[in-house]
Amino acid sequence: MNSFTSKKNKFQKLKGDEVIFDNPHPDIHIANIPIATACWVKTTEGIVVIDTLLKNIHGEQMYNKIKTTTDGIIKYLIITHGHRDHHGGYRPFMQDSPEIITQSLFLERLEKYKIQAPYQDRVKSIQFNMPMKKVTPEQLEKWRQIKYISPTKLYDEFFSFKLGDKTFELYHARGETDCATWVWIPEIKVAFVGDLLIGRFPNIGNPFKPTRFALPWARTLEKIREKKPKMIIHGGYYHPVYKDYEVREVLDHTIEAIHIIHDQVIDYINNGVPLYDFINKVKLPEYLQKSPYLTSQYSRIEFAVQNIYRWYHGYFDFNPAHLLPVPEATINREILSLIGNKASILNRVQELISKHKLQLALQVLNIILFEDMKNVEARKLRLKILKEIREEDNCMISFNIWTYYINEDKKFISYYKS
Ligand SMILES: [Zn+2]
Repeated sequence: MNSFTSKKNKFQKLKGDEVIFDNPHPDIHIANIPIATACWVKTTEGIVVIDTLLKNIHGEQMYNKIKTTTDGIIKYLIITHGHRDHHGGYRPFMQDSPEIITQSLFLERLEKYKIQAPYQDRVKSIQFNMPMKKVTPEQLEKWRQIKYISPTKLYDEFFSFKLGDKTFELYHARGETDCATWVWIPEIKVAFVGDLLIGRFPNIGNPFKPTRFALPWARTLEKIREKKPKMIIHGGYYHPVYKDYEVREVLDHTIEAIHIIHDQVIDYINNGVPLYDFINKVKLPEYLQKSPYLTSQYSRIEFAVQNIYRWYHGYFDFNPAHLLPVPEATINREILSLIGNKASILNRVQELISKHKLQLALQVLNIILFEDMKNVEARKLRLKILKEIREEDNCMISFNIWTYYINEDKKFISYYKS
């Protein structure tokens, strides 16, 4: 059993939409589900909620907990960024009619979720290993009718307000999204940073998503560090509260890691090295590889490298054959006809598997699969390769992507057996 399998078991224990609460500071409560953390802050004149988790059932548990532990009214609801596990549970909070504050680019993101609903659903189901919805006219209509949270106050770069004994300073940041907000309360020196930290290596790159931000992300963490927080609460699932020495360490390590990866990618770009010649060469120094704040259980360095490259570099890799290329299927068909038979490709793939050159085996197999997805022998080999790759993978996103295609191959093979 690898470490991700044991983490999966932890998820299973927490499933069933149960919200876990904690109280890391006399005036702060956190609410945690297996993918996100939200919180609320007590002031002498009411409550400020930061994020609402994913679903109504989560929001309800948060709302009920607030109402059973305090007699305060929820005056403000701040959303740290557009990912739905941070605002999907908003409805129960509307009973108190709070001011709802987001950064102004938040609305564009919600629009994107509507116009891209089938794609977003496909991504979500693969990334989080969840059932995929069938795209029917009824489902499309359902997606069109979704009522997302509606902010009552948008801000661009900075906004602050005072409620009772506390000041809330809201700063715009670019991290996982371009609409991120981090919140600073100077009276208690606590920073709420949304998914700018997630308890793991930051999710700077996601294979399904548009480019995210590396340098602005590091610079935002530097600004947070300048405030010298006593406590940081982030929006991820794992270890959502940092106190004491951890605050400085998590910031130092994460800032350093982003700069180091970023600068290496820039060097390779400036030296004209193609992406796939350097993607596995970008490394963190040993002390950061061992950092407990930068483990790859959620995202991984290769994704960050891809992302930073795409941010700074166009699609053209200085190979004239790639300026206006034909579809990959067309070129693979040519190669297949030159080889003349599929058996020699299958044999070579077997050899590569036995030498543990799994990624190369996967790509060589594509010469057959582009032309013939129903080739049972090729699909059996792909299943074998994917299982071996997954066995060694401790990153949730790539683990779940392998799992999706493992299941597809299994379904296909059992269909052709019967
Ligand atoms: Zn997020």
